[in-house]
Amino acid sequence: MLLGPPNAGKGTQAVAVAGRLQVPRISTGDMLREEVASKSKLGLRVDGIMARGELVDDETMAAVVRSRLGQPDARVGFLLDGYPRTVPQAETLEAILSDMGESLDAVVLLEVPDDELVRRALLRGRADDREDVLRERLRVYHDKTKPLEGYFSKRGLLQAIDGNREIGQVTEQVLKALGLAA
Ligand code: AMP
Repeated sequence: MLLGPPNAGKGTQAVAVAGRLQVPRISTGDMLREEVASKSKLGLRVDGIMARGELVDDETMAAVVRSRLGQPDARVGFLLDGYPRTVPQAETLEAILSDMGESLDAVVLLEVPDDELVRRALLRGRADDREDVLRERLRVYHDKTKPLEGYFSKRGLLQAIDGNREIGQVTEQVLKALGLAA
């Protein structure tokens, strides 16, 4: 899985690395944005939460991820992008994977300084990249998601890399962290 603050480049790297590994990229953010776009029941429920930069509740996310990981394409493996984001989500993931007879191989942390995250958000211009929303997303990251660094580090899974570089160089570092040549 890829871990890192909003705008660290998780999505970009996840696409490149999943392509290289030939496994599906599972982005809970993309899945939720599709629900919002299609105005499904779930989409209508999470729309405001996402627009404010808050987190969707752990129980909802557990259902989303359990069903996605049960799809046949995930049998060969997968790259998680944006899940888990809280310690309870990490515990749920462990339980889901253990039910499947699987476990996480690696957690790659993309480290990028806050001022660079703000600069990238202003360039990207997604709905939740507005400065006040980004500030909330960063606050939530530091509060709820950052504890996962210690959580996965304790389990010997965490590999931190410098995400404040050119895209191709970051991809190379991620592949290296996963034991693959670039
Ligand atoms: P992302 O594209 O990963 O930055 O996700 C966009 C938004 O979707 C987040 O700001 C949350 O509102 C919601 N979201 C995505 N993944 C999760 C998750 N694992 N737990 C809670 N909310 C999530």
